[in-house]
Amino acid sequence: MWNFETEPVFRASLDWITRFVHEEIEPLDYLFPKDETYNTRNESLMSILNPLKRQVREAGFWACHLPPAMGGGGWGQLKLALMNEILGRSFFAPTVFGTAAPDTGNAEILAHFGTPAQKARYLKPLLDGDIVSCFSMTEPQGGADPRVFTCRADRVGDEWILRGEKWFSSNARWADFLIVMAITDPEVSIYKGASMFLVPVNTPGVEFVRNSGMAFEHAEHGAHAYLRFNDVKLGNADLLGQAGDAFRIAQTRLGGGRVHHAMRTVGLAKRVFEAICERVQSRSTQGETLSRKQLMQGAIADLWMEIEQFRLLVLQTAWKIDRFNDYAQVRQDIAAVKVLSERVMTRVAGQAIHLHGALGISNEMLFGEYLLWGYALGLADGPSEVHQMTVAKEALRQVAPTESLFPTAHVPSQVAALRSRYAEALKLPGHKRGWV
Ligand SMILES: Cc1cc2nc3c(=O)[nH]c(=O)nc-3n(C[C@H](O)[C@H](O)[C@H](O)COP(=O)(O)OP(=O)(O)OC[C@H]3O[C@@H](n4cnc5c(N)ncnc54)[C@H](O)[C@@H]3O)c2cc1C
Repeated sequence: MWNFETEPVFRASLDWITRFVHEEIEPLDYLFPKDETYNTRNESLMSILNPLKRQVREAGFWACHLPPAMGGGGWGQLKLALMNEILGRSFFAPTVFGTAAPDTGNAEILAHFGTPAQKARYLKPLLDGDIVSCFSMTEPQGGADPRVFTCRADRVGDEWILRGEKWFSSNARWADFLIVMAITDPEVSIYKGASMFLVPVNTPGVEFVRNSGMAFEHAEHGAHAYLRFNDVKLGNADLLGQAGDAFRIAQTRLGGGRVHHAMRTVGLAKRVFEAICERVQSRSTQGETLSRKQLMQGAIADLWMEIEQFRLLVLQTAWKIDRFNDYAQVRQDIAAVKVLSERVMTRVAGQAIHLHGALGISNEMLFGEYLLWGYALGLADGPSEVHQMTVAKEALRQVAPTESLFPTAHVPSQVAALRSRYAEALKLPGHKRGWV
């Protein structure tokens, strides 16, 4: 049975979240830059966010992605998709609801692989929203291909000595701790010889070379750190999971992270689409509103269809994750929505700029920021091409090559094979293909 309805009790929850996000959180995007959402030292912002977080907790919607044993709602991915598409409308909503990346993924791996002591030190304050964290994997010489990584941790007696550099480590400047991937066994492939370490940011030897920002951002506001580890001393207690586990751990967080970004992208794309609809109905040229022009209607129709197609694939992906409880079985779908996130967001934000004219491209609207964010979606957690390859490989795996000279759907070959099967029918009068 296929059913696209939302049960009434859950509908009421979504209605509460919709109203709350629209009235209380969306306005914050006009007041504070996007990356400030993680800045727990921004007193002005925190004085607004903390009471909002309290209201979310009281309403029972805090960290719904977590299982109940960890203080979350245990909603499953489909319900999360419906919630996240509302939260995605504002850059601040995921923080207010305790579902902001990369903290969600980091909490997930701490819950899976952390020791009781690590959970007490890092996971609890992270889940409570008291601290933020950073996932540090990409290096200056390459991100898409981990085989070029060189950052390493060498065992010396009871200690590990961490040396090397990491690049574009988001929120490191606000974080209490970093989760750092480092090579611990250079004799084997990095996929087997890398490990994850929990590194408090104030550990001696952790150097911030600089905080890079997104284009347009003032240098002071950058939140994507270029880090250098100068013989940082770590203990066995700082190792997350076992030595050599880094990629197993990374996979646990990236599957969920990618699909949650896609869910939120649906919401942001819809918010921008609504702005476009408002504008074309309000702005007149040559004696009529833009919305009366058929070329405009074509543009609106295309955007609506692209967003809805994307939304349905995201919802189906979420449903499959719940159904199979195994990210590996949903690999193709997750890769597809990851690729589409960039395409849909850049398309909608690009059209918003264009259809608002000079105002759209100005710093008086947020569309430029949304457009850049769309491109960021095509890089963060791996570039689109790598995920396109996953989609294609899975599709190709479903279909075997033919050993015949001509393809399976070659008409003369098929007719030759079918002639005896339909011999009696083909004797009867009727228009047939020339090959019969
Ligand atoms: C907003 C944002 C936040 C980020 N946050 C973090 C973070 O918190 N922690 C972290 O560790 N990293 C983070 N990253 C880094 C991100 O993971 C890398 O940017 C990404 O993996 C690509 O690596 P790269 O930038 O080195 O690009 P490269 O690896 O140099 O790739 C450049 C381009 O080459 C092409 N390309 C690469 N590989 C292939 C291929 N196999 N086939 C065809 N074409 C290919 C693609 O067009 C790609 O965009 C973040 C990035 C962004 C944009």
